[in-house]
Amino acid sequence: MQRIFDSKEDFVDLFESSCQTLIGRTYEDCTDAERFQALASIVAAKSRAIGVKTNELAQQEQKKKVYYFSLEFLIGPLLDNYLINYGVRDLVEEGLAELGLSLDNILAQEQDPGLGNGGLGRLAACFMDSMATEGIMGYGNGMRYRYGLFHQAIVNGCQVEETDNWLERGFPWEVRREQSSVIVTFGGKPVRHEDENGHFWFTTEGGDRVKAVPYDVPVVGYGGETVTKLRLWSAEPAEENFDLDAFNEGDYAKANKFRSDVEAISTILYPNDAGPHGRILRIKQEYLFVSAGLQTILRTYERDYGPDWKHFPDHVALHTNDTHPAMCGPELMRLLVDEKGLEWDEAWDITTRSISFTNHTVMPEALETWPIPMFRSLLPRIYMFIDEINRRYLESLSQDRDNWQELASQTAVLWDGNVRMANLSIICGHSVNGVSAIHTEILKHDVLKGFYALTPEKFNNKTNGVSHRRFLREANPALSKVITNAVGDGWMTNAEELSKLEQYADDPAVLDDIVTAKHEAKKRLAEYVKQVSGVELDPNSVFDVQVKRFHAYKRQLLNVFKILDLYNRMIDDPSFRPMPTSFIFGGKAAQSYTFAKEVIRLINSLADVVNNDSRVNDVLRVAFVPNYGISNAQIIYPAAEISEQISTAGMEGSGTSNMKFMMNGAIMLGTYDGANIEIADLVGFENLKIFGLRVEDIERLKAEGYWAWNEYQADRGRLGRVVDELVDGTLARLNGNFELVHDELMVNNDQWFVLADFKPYVQAWEELRQICANPREWAHMSIINTARSGHFSSDRTIREYAEDIWHV
Ligand SMILES: *Cc1c(COP(=O)(O)O)cnc(C)c1O
Repeated sequence: MQRIFDSKEDFVDLFESSCQTLIGRTYEDCTDAERFQALASIVAAKSRAIGVKTNELAQQEQKKKVYYFSLEFLIGPLLDNYLINYGVRDLVEEGLAELGLSLDNILAQEQDPGLGNGGLGRLAACFMDSMATEGIMGYGNGMRYRYGLFHQAIVNGCQVEETDNWLERGFPWEVRREQSSVIVTFGGKPVRHEDENGHFWFTTEGGDRVKAVPYDVPVVGYGGETVTKLRLWSAEPAEENFDLDAFNEGDYAKANKFRSDVEAISTILYPNDAGPHGRILRIKQEYLFVSAGLQTILRTYERDYGPDWKHFPDHVALHTNDTHPAMCGPELMRLLVDEKGLEWDEAWDITTRSISFTNHTVMPEALETWPIPMFRSLLPRIYMFIDEINRRYLESLSQDRDNWQELASQTAVLWDGNVRMANLSIICGHSVNGVSAIHTEILKHDVLKGFYALTPEKFNNKTNGVSHRRFLREANPALSKVITNAVGDGWMTNAEELSKLEQYADDPAVLDDIVTAKHEAKKRLAEYVKQVSGVELDPNSVFDVQVKRFHAYKRQLLNVFKILDLYNRMIDDPSFRPMPTSFIFGGKAAQSYTFAKEVIRLINSLADVVNNDSRVNDVLRVAFVPNYGISNAQIIYPAAEISEQISTAGMEGSGTSNMKFMMNGAIMLGTYDGANIEIADLVGFENLKIFGLRVEDIERLKAEGYWAWNEYQADRGRLGRVVDELVDGTLARLNGNFELVHDELMVNNDQWFVLADFKPYVQAWEELRQICANPREWAHMSIINTARSGHFSSDRTIREYAEDIWHV
């Protein structure tokens, strides 16, 4: 364990002087926000110093480096995490208490950098944590967005997007590395050069030269021994582009136009689920962070190993998270061929041995493509490489295959006037993985079956994981204490040790402790919900939670139907009194995703009806937690008794909130989808509830003909009534009826099988409700879920990547 403070006194001295030198006031006169600055800057400085040592050591040992390219890193607040990882949280808390200060109040001041949309970005952040903890030299490469994902406010039931100005008060963890800036060129004209031996290469004439400036954030592993970094790029105009003539002539707008055009590249994070990205800014972001990252990696490699390029793949692994960094292939080719003078074949061998790729989704509309004319005019030289990669690929394909035309149509990079980024990622790399067992199978046999037929050896599964240090230890101190008291703290670095808890699965004292810890977390969430949404929740009611991005396939709508049905039954039959339950929702919808935004309004309308109806509101409550993000997720997961994971089978890549809830002892109510299946295999079907259509059922229904209308007709009394209530005024108080949602079901024939899964879902929930009515029985299931959750630590996932893909 790397101690960053020798003693409490040592810490207190440092903290006092940090307040003085950084803020210019005594700690007593500082605000909590300033105290946060002072404390974070100490931890960040210590981390950077350890980071330098980590690097020197790795260089001496010639350790292989892993570069993780991701357009999103949803890192969340860092201070608490780093205090825990350095093993000084208690010391700091006590030291501050002696000064009359509260660590919790200071921690609450930290901004939550929203540099990701959801699961994909959070995965990248968990991987950074696990790589550092496992002693892997893992470096993140991403974008420093001026504004993160929008802040979600709820006004009159509707989502309203507000700018997320996360840098307003500065970001104490980052350091700007001006001297490590690199130039990235867009547009221009490729010019061919040839030497006397016929060797040729290209340079680019003209074009827009953009300066990419890196900002480094330290990544501290548990124990504090290894500190690596996350490098985030910001776009700025290269000096020489300032239009001095225009400025001197007084045309300041013209002089500054280039500046604002360039800075736009790193201004905003694109929301996912927003439909086809036709926007040129998005390709610019993708190329900027790929090119800047690779230029820097080659520079570092050359410094460490000289121009010994053929051994590059032995020392460097380049991982591409989804298709956003797909230009890694052609850009590395460009750098090796045009700038380092390598021949095509040699460069291609190096490229394909270095790059690996993770696919995250099976939804065809999410498979990224770009129109060729737009792509070619923005990145002409990269396009030439893609064209040549595609030509050689098709040439290799057409040899001795009778179905080559079919394979070509599935796997070519250039097709129908588009550049297909997933295909580019696969062809340029040596590995493609899915993120859960079922997802990988769907890739192999459906979405990417052409590639699987050609190169089965490239395919492998890496079931996602989450940082149990953040989502259990940090988020849930009460439960963590129960665990550590029972089995020691070895689980912090070896999550499999959580399994030792299982011997207490029938121990009444430990089960009572579990119930007490859950109650504490529920009280905390209830206070938070009251504060942010005004809804009062009873901590003695069952907390049934669904928090995640809003998307039709995640089926928040199915959950709404269950609650509305319950409400109807209570109204019809006053003697029907289910166990008091609080239904808690949270999540953002992409700005342009109208359907998802309507479902948010629907939940808020339902909450308005239910919470204000005295016939039911002693038993039923509905709350929507605005602005779901890492900070409040850490308050939500620990408080859940039921975890809703109800996506349409075959649609969810993996899901990771299912794992976070599991660690925190919530019982899953889930479909046969993503990692839910692996969770069920591990904890046993008697310790959670799985319901509804499976992938093969859905395929059969689609083949035979699924008719939402029949489902509606077959159960007019309950299901049909709920459908009708979308448009009959029942829920219309906040901004009217829900025709769009109704039509998605009844006109568009219920693409996501909400009606088909309604009955088994309600049935499964009824069974779970019975269990929750008996705290000991619930606690028994709960402890087994926690005990078997070690498999879903991202430490395990990272060890698999390290061994099977990166070979470190
Ligand atoms: C874990 C997490 C997600 C992913 O949730 P899923 O339910 O797996 O889609 C999204 N957002 C935040 C803030 C998270 O912490």
